[in-house]
Amino acid sequence: MNREKTEQEIREDLRKQFAALYGDAEGVRFFFAPGRVNLIGEHTDYNGGHVFPCALTIGTYAAARKREDDKIRFFSMNGKGNTFTEYRTDDLEPAGKSGWTMYPLGVVWAFAGRGMKLPSGFEMVIYGNIPGGSGLSSSASLEVLTGFVLKSLYGFSVDGVTLAQIGQYSENHYNGMNCGIMDQFASAMGKKDHAIFLDTADLSYTYAPVVLDGMKIVITNSKVKHQLTDSGYNDRRRSCEEALAELQKVVDIRALGDLTPERFEEVKSAIADEDRRRKAKHAVYENARTVRAVEALKEGDIPAFGRLMNESHVSLRDDYDVSCPEVDILAEEAWKIPGVLGARITGGGFGGCTVAIVRNEAVAEYQQTLSRVYRERTGIEAEFYVVDIGDGPREIV
Ligand code: ADP
Ligand code: MG
Repeated sequence: MNREKTEQEIREDLRKQFAALYGDAEGVRFFFAPGRVNLIGEHTDYNGGHVFPCALTIGTYAAARKREDDKIRFFSMNGKGNTFTEYRTDDLEPAGKSGWTMYPLGVVWAFAGRGMKLPSGFEMVIYGNIPGGSGLSSSASLEVLTGFVLKSLYGFSVDGVTLAQIGQYSENHYNGMNCGIMDQFASAMGKKDHAIFLDTADLSYTYAPVVLDGMKIVITNSKVKHQLTDSGYNDRRRSCEEALAELQKVVDIRALGDLTPERFEEVKSAIADEDRRRKAKHAVYENARTVRAVEALKEGDIPAFGRLMNESHVSLRDDYDVSCPEVDILAEEAWKIPGVLGARITGGGFGGCTVAIVRNEAVAEYQQTLSRVYRERTGIEAEFYVVDIGDGPREIV
């Protein structure tokens, strides 16, 4: 995947591929939806807690056009399995379907489920410049992109929050991945140079300017993705649901996110199992950390924000058990480098990326030191992306 390509080059590649596949590129339109990185508030989105993600300037692009007949055609320019797949507008049920096209088709299915049935088919070529399997939410970006394409081609009236909800619904019910709303919300509602402080309990949100004077957000890809990703995620969800049910016998809450750390300490003995207690502890404390982190950012106290990021990592590593040795190396070695304000695992876990805040003058050393240490200890070449915070989905004209 070549992340160096400009948007216009990507657009041209898509146009050529589209014309080669579908005969011509007459009337084709181009779209983009971003990936995201979560600055803090991990595994809180399905616990009625707060998250603090931002959209990135990398994401997924599409060339798309309506068809006269009922065919739906997908092609991806990424990866080996980029075969052309065709469906029909009256055959959207998930049974018997597989592969990456389940993501965009699931969105078509979810639109239909909300009364937005397609009057005709469409054809689409996509290209993503999010590194695969890195935890930067290529799946949410693809879902939000598809929703935005449908809205734009057929004139459906759906706002950004609804696009996010449709994406999450289709990932949950069509792709069997029990994700929370954060990824799709960050992609659909992204705002340049702002992070989104989202309360997942009621979807209320505010934008917080991310003013990093003389600092950069650096994402480091461990390039490992452990098999546990999906099952581990769903297991964590179940632990939290069980812990919540146990707590609800002694305290009146709707979600773990309703508890302060102090209150949690008073009532945690209601959770019978030690492991489940640690999982619930993470959800409660991480939510509180996220609220504090956003306050710190608003006050311009980036060192405090960074310390909370580090604490978040420790909690995800020790209490929530979603880190892995490779990602721990990346975070823990980063903490030792002068000029690194904070570093933590980001995304669902079991591999993927860390996110760090690094002073401009320390970025080169950060990359050199981490690549060397990581190579020595794992044999793997880490990848680094100095990222910018971008807007939500848009048409490229
Ligand atoms: P993440 O969302 O963290 O990147 P996921 O495992 O949730 O990781 O989603 C990745 C999946 O999304 C891929 O395996 C593939 O099925 C689909 N996908 C995302 N982007 C593309 C793309 N550009 N082309 C084809 N499939 C894609
Ligand atoms: Mg995903």
